[in-house]
Amino acid sequence: RAKAEGKNRLAFYEAHLQEGLRQEMALLEALQQDLERGENLYLAYQPIVDLKTGEEVAKEALLRWPLAPPSTFIPLAERHRLMPALGAFVLRQACLARSRHGLPVHVNVSPQELLDPGYPARVAAILEETGCPPEGLVLEVTESALIPDERGREASESLRILRGLGVRIYLDDFGTGYSSLERLASLPVNGLKLGQGFTRALGNPPRPDTPPARLVAALLALAQTLGLEAIAEGIEDEATLAYLRDLGFRLGQGYLLGRPVP
Ligand code: C2E
Ligand code: MG
Ligand code: MG
Ligand code: MG
Repeated sequence: RAKAEGKNRLAFYEAHLQEGLRQEMALLEALQQDLERGENLYLAYQPIVDLKTGEEVAKEALLRWPLAPPSTFIPLAERHRLMPALGAFVLRQACLARSRHGLPVHVNVSPQELLDPGYPARVAAILEETGCPPEGLVLEVTESALIPDERGREASESLRILRGLGVRIYLDDFGTGYSSLERLASLPVNGLKLGQGFTRALGNPPRPDTPPARLVAALLALAQTLGLEAIAEGIEDEATLAYLRDLGFRLGQGYLLGRPVP
């Protein structure tokens, strides 16, 4: 009897797995088709703001697809090696938009793109093709692409080539992934973006002299010591804005300063 029950459970589990897989393949197919036809996919732009003057100094491009949120379809594209093609679409659109608004544009790069040795050459080709000067482009990379193994070293080498072109590199969601402080000093990055979690941990309104507040101050000091620009992410209210500005953050981003708009 126990055996029969086990068999039933396994059949039930397999049916679920198959259903999940079927849904994943249907979503993937729709994404592939929209990418090929250039339909439904578009970029939203969120301002990066000078916290003292309120002036917009750059824009971050964020990919949008009506069928699913980025937290679903970007990992999906990663799992099925669609990210190189999707990333090229984003980069081309963002570079074209830059020539319309004139501000530097930040583009998110997935680990899969960065780990491909052909990536820097593709970036150079898209800059050329769109007439975007390298100074107009900032690439946001996550720490997970830069783990200190063989592939991580190759990724760092790609960043060096990109820097050589004049493109700037920022570490996105800094402090939330695998951080090697030892390697931070040698990574070819121009700046870092402090992950939203840190901003939220300050409390509302922010409480100074708590461990999270001291950690944020220490991370800003670390960036300044290394000569890196720092951007505070996830600013949603005036008290947090004032707190981070007075702490010394020059730049910030968040719903209070501007939501992503198509
Ligand atoms: P990210 O690069 O860290 O982008 C910031 C995310 O936080 C965006 O979510 C943005 O809409 C959201 N955000 C901005 N300000 C606030 C705020 O004040 N409060 C809150 N709660 N959220 C805020 P989104 O657009 O859903 O993107 C999520 C992630 O998906 C991005 O995180 C990025 O890692 C990835 N992503 C988006 N577009 C692309 C892309 O074109 N290529 C790649 N590789 N990844 C992308
Ligand atoms: Mg980003
Ligand atoms: Mg992120
Ligand atoms: Mg981020």
